[in-house]
Amino acid sequence: MKKILRNQVIYAMGTSNKPVIYVNPGETLRIETEDCFSHQLVKATDSFDERVDFSKVNPASGPVFVNGTSPGDTLKVFIKKIELDKQGVTVAMKGLGVLGHKVKGSQVEIIPIGSDAIMFAGQKLPRRPMIGVIGVAPAEGEVPNSTPGDHGGNMDTLDVSPGAYVYLPVFVNGAYFAIGDIHATMGNGEVCGTGVECRAEVELTLDICTEYHWQIPVIETCDSFYFVGSADTLDNAVKKAADEAVMFLEKINRIPWNTAYMLASLSGDVIISQAVNPLKTARIRIPKSCLNI
Ligand code: CA
Ligand code: ZN
Repeated sequence: MKKILRNQVIYAMGTSNKPVIYVNPGETLRIETEDCFSHQLVKATDSFDERVDFSKVNPASGPVFVNGTSPGDTLKVFIKKIELDKQGVTVAMKGLGVLGHKVKGSQVEIIPIGSDAIMFAGQKLPRRPMIGVIGVAPAEGEVPNSTPGDHGGNMDTLDVSPGAYVYLPVFVNGAYFAIGDIHATMGNGEVCGTGVECRAEVELTLDICTEYHWQIPVIETCDSFYFVGSADTLDNAVKKAADEAVMFLEKINRIPWNTAYMLASLSGDVIISQAVNPLKTARIRIPKSCLNI
């Protein structure tokens, strides 16, 4: 199996980064990922303010050139496995997250990652491995890995987890796919701006999607589709996600747009993915039980 190493990282999605690997559609790949702080915080005594070089934040492994993909295609990524490191880090940092203005001094917590649970502040949290940054190159220029968008990127969406398919619109030949920022667990919204940030090894299969065609990232799990919108505000992110979901319902169920709009309202759940990145991300979950597929 082809493999990307932990030091093969980029800090922005774009074609100015030379591909580190070329794969054919259908190929499975093993990818080592660095944590979002580039392993600068590994001990409880590591001071955030002294140690963190911000030019090394949010690395993503790649880019992967997917042979045969061209603009207008949809990339289909199957997340086969996420193997987590034995420890991760969560921080409270001045200015970070929805209450960043209330953080008086930065705090670094090194958190052991147990095989079935994660202990923090005396509480047992479920292990919920997910990929925070997953994306492709945009049509023009580059997008920093801190930022989500139609190309994916820092969506911090909980459902990007083992067993899920992630669909991404392709904007350039080869797609230039990359991933990073794995979390051992987090809650929807990521209110303080970090999950349990850790190194990981991910196995995934890259393919060209033939059945669907979308303008924004979409996640498919065993029972649902999640349409993922990122925009300047959560309102606009919801609008974007709902727009794509309603067009999909209209098409796949062969019903008028108004009916699809109402069906989305009656069956779909809007969920905040993250409220803390330069653009905000929301998703709408449409249960497969409402789809004629
Ligand atoms: Ca993130
Ligand atoms: Zn993260």
